[in-house]
Amino acid sequence: MFYHLILTDRCNLCCSYCRGKVFDAEEDYGIDVEIDESLPLDFDSGIEDLCEFLKNDPDAVLTFYGGEPLMRMDLVREIMDKAPVGKFMIQTNGMLLHRLEPEYVNRFDTILISIDGPRELTDLHRGAGVFDRIVQTLNKIRAEGFKGEIIARMTVVENTDIYSAVKYLSSNPYFSFSSVHWQIDADFSNDYRKRNFGTWVRESYNPGIRRLISEWQGIMENEGRVVRWYPFLDTMQDLLTGRKSRLRCGSGYINYSIMTDGHIAPCPVMVGMKKYYLGHISTTHPLHIPQVDVSEPCSRCDIRDFCGGRCLYSNIIRPWPENQRDVVCGTVRNLYEGLSEAVPGVVELLRQGRIFMADFDHTRYNGCEIIP
Ligand code: SF4
Ligand code: SF4
Repeated sequence: MFYHLILTDRCNLCCSYCRGKVFDAEEDYGIDVEIDESLPLDFDSGIEDLCEFLKNDPDAVLTFYGGEPLMRMDLVREIMDKAPVGKFMIQTNGMLLHRLEPEYVNRFDTILISIDGPRELTDLHRGAGVFDRIVQTLNKIRAEGFKGEIIARMTVVENTDIYSAVKYLSSNPYFSFSSVHWQIDADFSNDYRKRNFGTWVRESYNPGIRRLISEWQGIMENEGRVVRWYPFLDTMQDLLTGRKSRLRCGSGYINYSIMTDGHIAPCPVMVGMKKYYLGHISTTHPLHIPQVDVSEPCSRCDIRDFCGGRCLYSNIIRPWPENQRDVVCGTVRNLYEGLSEAVPGVVELLRQGRIFMADFDHTRYNGCEIIP
């Protein structure tokens, strides 16, 4: 199983689509989302309990998550010293990563780092100087021997040109990411009245995705490389193999989140949503955590096996009205149709031996939600 461990709710940034929005959004979701206001800010459920819990899962993969997990670097070190876990990953904004000693950094299997594209775009959303700090730190950890995967984890909003932002992160003079994932900030909070989402999807995002798919296929043809753009990588692998997918982030069946008080939730965003808790690390066996799945309209959607339901949290909370959710689903359909059209060309490249099925291999449920 994969576990996101929420080490702290604190963060040292105030990104526009995260904490920056908390003061702005209308919180009337129309459904009962009673939040546990007594959750401790930092993980305080006991590292011994955590280790006992993880010991019962021979395939445990633990991802440090927050807030900003490196605000509790002491816990990161202690858990990495003690927890019986095969793989550690971290999802971080990168601001403190330079302070973690190489003996810990180099043990991460994967580092997912929040960055949105070129300097101006990243700093606009995340704060002045963030882009430069990230690229300096990534160059430093590579120089100090980090060999694992570094994934650029973009949040995408209306001022993102998806085509140029993804291409930039994949190739630029400062630090070129071999792996890129992006997630659209859509249907996560009650902000739709302030958004210009439909127009952006129609005029920029969806056409940009089609251009990116062409670019991706072009690189396969011209260079024999399958670039690790996660929303294409995982989905194309499934289209090629005929594999059906449940929720692609794995939340609620293979990917669970451990709250700061030790409760287990289906997903890291469902912090404090007591009604949806699935157990506690001190009393629940990791291999017996109940499963939850998305419901209507996903359960009767014709592309459910491709999409998986996009997001359990959104499916439960439904922050956007139905007509706006349809626009979000339209982005999934655009991705599905674009990739499906690319399948014959990819199959031909495989047949010619220009690329190989192994080129699509990746760790599933590694924190990339896959469906943006
Ligand atoms: S496209 Fe929309 S309705 Fe269909 S499975 Fe995905 S999220 Fe659900
Ligand atoms: S996609 Fe939704 S359900 Fe999955 S991890 Fe993200 S917020 Fe949670």
